[in-house]
Amino acid sequence: MRLLILAALLGAAVWLVLRSLARPPGGARRVEGEGTPLVRCAVCGTFVPRDAAVAVRTDGAEKTCCGEACAARLKEGRGEGA
Ligand SMILES: [Zn+2]
Repeated sequence: MRLLILAALLGAAVWLVLRSLARPPGGARRVEGEGTPLVRCAVCGTFVPRDAAVAVRTDGAEKTCCGEACAARLKEGRGEGA
């Protein structure tokens, strides 16, 4: 019977470790717009939340834009100093 208790304790310990590993420090609960990593627009340089950024594939590289307007500029090849 002691083995059963030991197994249960071991199982609980493993579960706790796995749970703490799955949850990154700082809390997994994130409000949209708050705590979202910011990315820089490749065209105008504005920082926008990653969720709101528009990804554009150009010249084999993926770039991020703050919105559709900048994405269109980048696709036309008028971004980055042009
Ligand atoms: Zn922009």
